Amino acid sequence: MDQKVTKPQPPTEATLQRLAGVVGARYALRDDEDKQPYLVEWRDKYFGAAAMVLRPGSVEEVSQLLAIANETHTAIVPQGGNTGLVGAQIPFESGHEIVLSLSRLNRVRDIDAADNTITVDAGCVLQSIQDAADRVDRLFPLRIGSEGSCQIGGNIGTNAGGTAVLAYGNTRDLVLGLEVVLADGRVWNGLRRLRKDNTGYDLKNLFIGSEGTLGIVTGAVLKLFPRPRDKATVFIGLPSPANALELLGLAQERTGRRVTGFEIMPRFGLEVVITHGQNMRDPLAEPHPWYVLMELSGGGSPGTLNDTASDILAEAAEAGWVSDAALAASEAQAGDFWRLREVVSETQKHEGGSIKFDVSVPVSSVPDFIDEVSAACKALEPGCRPLQFGHMGDGNIHSNITQPVGADKQAFLDRWGDFNDVVHEVVARFQGSISAEHGVGRLKRDWMPRIKQPLELEMMYMLKHQLDPNGILNPGKVLPPQN
Ligand SMILES: Cc1cc2nc3c(=O)[nH]c(=O)nc-3n(C[C@H](O)[C@H](O)[C@H](O)COP(=O)(O)OP(=O)(O)OC[C@H]3O[C@@H](n4cnc5c(N)ncnc54)[C@H](O)[C@@H]3O)c2cc1C
Repeated sequence: MDQKVTKPQPPTEATLQRLAGVVGARYALRDDEDKQPYLVEWRDKYFGAAAMVLRPGSVEEVSQLLAIANETHTAIVPQGGNTGLVGAQIPFESGHEIVLSLSRLNRVRDIDAADNTITVDAGCVLQSIQDAADRVDRLFPLRIGSEGSCQIGGNIGTNAGGTAVLAYGNTRDLVLGLEVVLADGRVWNGLRRLRKDNTGYDLKNLFIGSEGTLGIVTGAVLKLFPRPRDKATVFIGLPSPANALELLGLAQERTGRRVTGFEIMPRFGLEVVITHGQNMRDPLAEPHPWYVLMELSGGGSPGTLNDTASDILAEAAEAGWVSDAALAASEAQAGDFWRLREVVSETQKHEGGSIKFDVSVPVSSVPDFIDEVSAACKALEPGCRPLQFGHMGDGNIHSNITQPVGADKQAFLDRWGDFNDVVHEVVARFQGSISAEHGVGRLKRDWMPRIKQPLELEMMYMLKHQLDPNGILNPGKVLPPQN
């Protein structure tokens, strides 16, 4: 393939002035202190630099900014809520890139309960979309731990997953239409509300999960669903992930698509949460090797699913798959159970360094996968403490390997590459993915040639070249630079 994306140039003072002129001085940040929050990510893993942070207030402004950037070959790094976990939203250290924050584009444009759609600006915080849906008695089911800060543009950019994927799918499954500003500044209005539209290539799906490398999403039409009238939330202690798999099968067989959450964590995870979290307590009287947080939800009379859950648990206990369980007696208690799951990542920081993997395997392989990753990591570093938890219902496990007690944090983190090799080898053996829901960004970019077929990579470069020939959109992310 001879098509190559060209390299962006450092912006001149004249280019910076032109860009600032579009948004006005107040929204063109050049001061180090003002830029700082946009240059560091949540885990303090990447520290970037930028010539400027731009905060446009309209689609028209985004369009004008990109037209200038394209003409001057200036690199643009789109940023939403800055909660991404692969470094894709953070500029490189050169200081030559411009961060383009979408946070001022935060209007709900339209909500239609009859069509079950909501049309939003890309900078809407996810939780505000959930709340807007709730006000018209509908559900927007994308549910992730960062929902109070992440934006729908970022969710679309990463094709975010979360805890409700097993019932409602990834972000990709929730998007009906998109509005996208292309690299040259032209605006594609694809804000369709259709459930069926087979008129050629599905362009919106090109942009979903492209991590800001193909276009800038400025608006989206999203699917809404009936708000569940009935819900049962259970915190379950069990002997092993294999038992959890049996329980999942039973629950799905008995309730169909009403299993809307099925999260797993080991005892070590619960201990970390209880020790370092605020107001956390073990819902069960005795410790158990593994826990599942299961949610059933759907239509029907309130309370019915509690009965269903009790029947399922009784049958599972009889089979020896479940040791003990607590059924939430109120919404508040259900919230407490969910918090135990949601704070695993942040409380784990108190145990020192951890090397993190966001991987997926076929659901039926999860128990063996967990065992083999633990064994491989312990063979590499005997004292390490694997904390493997997450979305068992869709096969997405966060394999977070915590440093040995008392070890030097940096020395442990320096071994990230060694752990990568052993964990990715297990992932490959199970025909899984090394990035289930967080994306590729910077963190996993150099693995792309190893995990993608040459033809897949070639098609990706072809698309990049066609949509962004000057290589200005989030350069150096997702795809390794071409020589
Ligand atoms: C505590 C915590 C829990 C999390 N839990 C989950 C989880 O359960 N599931 C999950 O999938 N992720 C999870 N994440 C990761 C993160 O929240 C998601 O990746 C989220 O979708 C990122 O959204 P954001 O608005 O913060 O995007 P950012 O981090 O700002 O950007 C992410 C990517 O999207 C691009 N982008 C942003 N806005 C646009 C736009 N308008 N147009 C084009 N590209 C754009 C950026 O360039 C970047 O490549 C979690 C993160 C944290 C901190």
